[in-house]
Amino acid sequence: MVDQNFLSFEANRIKAIPLCWTDQCDRIIWPDSPDGEYSVKAGYQKLCEEADASNASSSDPTHQKSFWKKVWKLQFPNKIKNFLWRVCSNALPTKENLKKRKIIEDARCSACLSEQESTFHAIWDCEKISHVWAPCFSWVRTEHPQIHDIQELINMLGQQVQKLELFGVVAWFIWNHRNRLRLNEKGLSSEKIFEVAKIYLSDYQEKCPTPRMKLPKGNFKWQPPEDGMYKTNYDGAVFTESGEAGIGVNC
Ligand SMILES: [Zn+2]
Repeated sequence: MVDQNFLSFEANRIKAIPLCWTDQCDRIIWPDSPDGEYSVKAGYQKLCEEADASNASSSDPTHQKSFWKKVWKLQFPNKIKNFLWRVCSNALPTKENLKKRKIIEDARCSACLSEQESTFHAIWDCEKISHVWAPCFSWVRTEHPQIHDIQELINMLGQQVQKLELFGVVAWFIWNHRNRLRLNEKGLSSEKIFEVAKIYLSDYQEKCPTPRMKLPKGNFKWQPPEDGMYKTNYDGAVFTESGEAGIGVNC
């Protein structure tokens, strides 16, 4: 009967179930609780496990580890790396987070007064700061309209190191601008944030250049070009103390 009603691999698994030697009545059991009884708690736990499993790709530890390894190597100040980490960990004191901790009651964004101030909203989505991102990041809204999560946004930008560096610095300036407004302090006008952030990043990268590419290890022996081909030999050096650099080319 089993063979007639099930596919062969299902029938094999059914027939592999050991039968009880004593005479027992069949009964329905809930397999995820020790006594086989269903309870609301057991059902809730099962649903939570399934939700965790479906989110596994975004919280995949291997992916996260390699992502953060990349972030720590980015060419911008440590305070901005730290800021990006707090952004991704939802650790900024946004109004939404303060409301969750029962520190404030109204989580509406102070700038637009229309939406809850989440990290995503404060840094990226608020209409009052959309002009800050417009010069270099308007493509994100057109090409990735489905992104509504800060981690997702940063993961996507992380595919291009330079873009993530610029994003991190601009986001840091936006957050500081927001904090100054909250404290009624005078600061940069939002129209100038992008320009100032870009200059700040290029100044930093000029002063603290780090090689983006590692030379492959191994012993390389110079070889003459093949017949009919030309070979150009070149070498370069940077003298950090004098702020000079040189390049030599030999054909
Ligand atoms: Zn807003």
